[in-house]
Amino acid sequence: MERAARVAKVTPSVTLAITAKAKAMRAEGLDVCSFSAGEPNFPTPKHVVVAAQKALDEGKTRYGPAAGEPELRRAIATKLRTYNNVECQPENVIVTNGGKHSLYGLFMATLNAGDEVIIPAPYWVSYPEMVILADGEPVIVQTTAASGYKITPEQLRDAITPRTKFLVLNSPSNPTGQVYSHEEIRAIAQVVEETGIYVVSDEIYEKIIYGEKPCLSIAAASAAMAARTFISNGFAKAYSMTGWRLGYLAGPAAVIRDMATLQSHSTSNVCTFAQYGAIAALNESQDCVETMRLAFAERREAVLARIGEIDGLSCGVPGGAFYVFPDISKLGLGSVEFCDRLLNEHHVAAIPGAAFGADGNVRFSYATDMDTIMKGLDRLEKFVKSL
Ligand SMILES: *Cc1c(COP(=O)(O)O)cnc(C)c1O
Repeated sequence: MERAARVAKVTPSVTLAITAKAKAMRAEGLDVCSFSAGEPNFPTPKHVVVAAQKALDEGKTRYGPAAGEPELRRAIATKLRTYNNVECQPENVIVTNGGKHSLYGLFMATLNAGDEVIIPAPYWVSYPEMVILADGEPVIVQTTAASGYKITPEQLRDAITPRTKFLVLNSPSNPTGQVYSHEEIRAIAQVVEETGIYVVSDEIYEKIIYGEKPCLSIAAASAAMAARTFISNGFAKAYSMTGWRLGYLAGPAAVIRDMATLQSHSTSNVCTFAQYGAIAALNESQDCVETMRLAFAERREAVLARIGEIDGLSCGVPGGAFYVFPDISKLGLGSVEFCDRLLNEHHVAAIPGAAFGADGNVRFSYATDMDTIMKGLDRLEKFVKSL
């Protein structure tokens, strides 16, 4: 059968492919240290599980509204108003099958052929592919270690054309772990307001931060920005709920309605009883989030200290998420070959920066246990020394 042209334009997720290869090697009995998965290694907090179990017992097993359970949309709107200082009502919120699906739905509902989407590199693997699937054109803007891998207001202004629809912002960032300061967010917001583009703000790591100040959502930078920003978020990272497939998109109501129309013909509602777990996650104690954040903070210290001792790697200090993104460009091989050899010869899985538009770097996720971290980094050191 002839395949659809749209599929031929994209490639499968490298992150998922390497994670699968590491799992397969482990199944063969090899001792693999995996830094590949962007997935917390904690169980979902008990009270969240119990809330979903209770919903099951109560028979919340039927179809629901395509845009989400009204109680969850209310809880999300309240969270955005109180935690993020963003004016938001339930009609501004749609519940999706994860943060990834939020972004896909948004692009499908808003992009026309030739619409440009500015994506700062290094970027999360799926952004350009999703834009392409929605007939848009990714415009990649290369950032540098010197700017902390963040797009500058000047770079943004230079990249904007009459076809520009969105800037994609991801802070804290996957893969770099970098966080935009409040000043940086305000400076970007000013360019956005002046030029009349829109922002997709992927805030999935907002709760996993190591500095003093909470993140500033660009939607809260000014009254005008709330109408120009689409916030994508979800439960996977903050609440260790990756497999639940629960996310949300918040923004202007007309677009939310269009996304709901698309969902009504594709996925229908997100799993009904799972949404009751999400309600508990938002409405009950946030201590579980802090407990996991503290564990990540400890691992981050260990990883940075250990990588700092390895000659030939240079690594910025990430302010959030659970990734380090060391520069390997002095070692004389590309990131794909680096990761292939690291996995095949030393049984350590990491993701080549090439997948994120940065061939001089490699991404290590420290969302794994401390023993794996220590053993894996010993092997990394051995490998780098051998080069
Ligand atoms: C993990 C992740 C998401 C969303 O993940 P879901 O499991 O679909 O909720 C979105 N953006 C980035 C940058 C991520 O790392």
